[in-house]
Amino acid sequence: MNLKDRLLLRIQNDGPMTIADYMTECLMHPEHGYYTTRDPLGVRGDFTTAPEISQMFGELIGLCLAQTWLQQGKPERIVLAELGPGRGTMMADILRATQSVPGFHDAAEIALLEASPVLRKVQSKTLRGYEPKWIEAISDLDDLPLFLVANEFFDALPIRQFLRDGDAWRERLVGSDGDSLAFGLGSQKAHAALNERLKDTRDGDLVELCTAAVPALNAIAGHITRCGGAALIVDYGDWRSLGDTLQALRAHETAAPLDQPGQADLTAHVDFEILAGAAHAAGCNHTKLTPQGVFLERLGITTRAQSLAAPLSGSQLETLIAAHRRLTHPEEMGNLFKVLGLYPPNAAPPPGLEP
Ligand code: SAH
Repeated sequence: MNLKDRLLLRIQNDGPMTIADYMTECLMHPEHGYYTTRDPLGVRGDFTTAPEISQMFGELIGLCLAQTWLQQGKPERIVLAELGPGRGTMMADILRATQSVPGFHDAAEIALLEASPVLRKVQSKTLRGYEPKWIEAISDLDDLPLFLVANEFFDALPIRQFLRDGDAWRERLVGSDGDSLAFGLGSQKAHAALNERLKDTRDGDLVELCTAAVPALNAIAGHITRCGGAALIVDYGDWRSLGDTLQALRAHETAAPLDQPGQADLTAHVDFEILAGAAHAAGCNHTKLTPQGVFLERLGITTRAQSLAAPLSGSQLETLIAAHRRLTHPEEMGNLFKVLGLYPPNAAPPPGLEP
């Protein structure tokens, strides 16, 4: 039975499901899930990401982490971790760029959190020679200073959506309409987690809640507060999101989120205020939310691009110029994507970010 029929059957038996449950089934179903069954990245896939656009992205992130490690007194053993490493490209670029930092590689054990067996295989190929360890949960990380990166990980976590109705909310649910999946609304209820949003929304506004992000962030921030280290979280979204940002992507085109369950990538914008709040609650510092373009410029992406450009001409040079523009320009990824850094109390923020 295909995933759509399974979902229709489930709805028939149990009633409409939350968007979070729908996303979890579509992305992570063991047999039919989007991430569990394929490598979705790259030109022939459904979407591309900053590390796949250019090696410069991972290199600069790597140098930023290594500099933070130096600032914190070069701890002798650390965990270098990535959440949702995709093809392992960014970790490979981080490791290549930090080869010349004395002691950094010797100190680092590499940990990857990846739910997809297909992508785990790709990662082990990309990172051959480095012996990464795959973990099942953030709590599996060894009790060492943690230097963690996550690019386009939080946008893949399931969200719930709520429509404001008076001073309460109606949850947007996935139900059925004949043979099709269809959005509907649950009954009117109060939700404690949304009380704050009563202050900045009006009747009829839609807000999103990423329930899985808070415990994940809380665990990372608690670890950094206790053991030291830093985290760089890069994703699209804003300080506080408003409106429907659930998006399906297939073959680089947007699609209707309910049309092809399990066949398209599903994401939502990240609400960074929630992440920052979870970090703060764990006693950890967070930086200002910084546009990706600003962050990369501060780390020297233009100088790096110039040195990569020196031996190039023709189409290779054009590709490099286009990649630099795509990563940094405010009308491309430069402004839509943001960076939030986490760092321990009494330490300096990672380079490129402000307290
Ligand atoms: N960071 C990579 C890939 C981004 S795509 C890049 O920038 O290219 C999202 C990644 O997160 C994929 O590797 C996906 O399999 C993984 N992922 C999504 N949800 C996850 C979850 N709940 N637990 C672990 N990994 C997850």
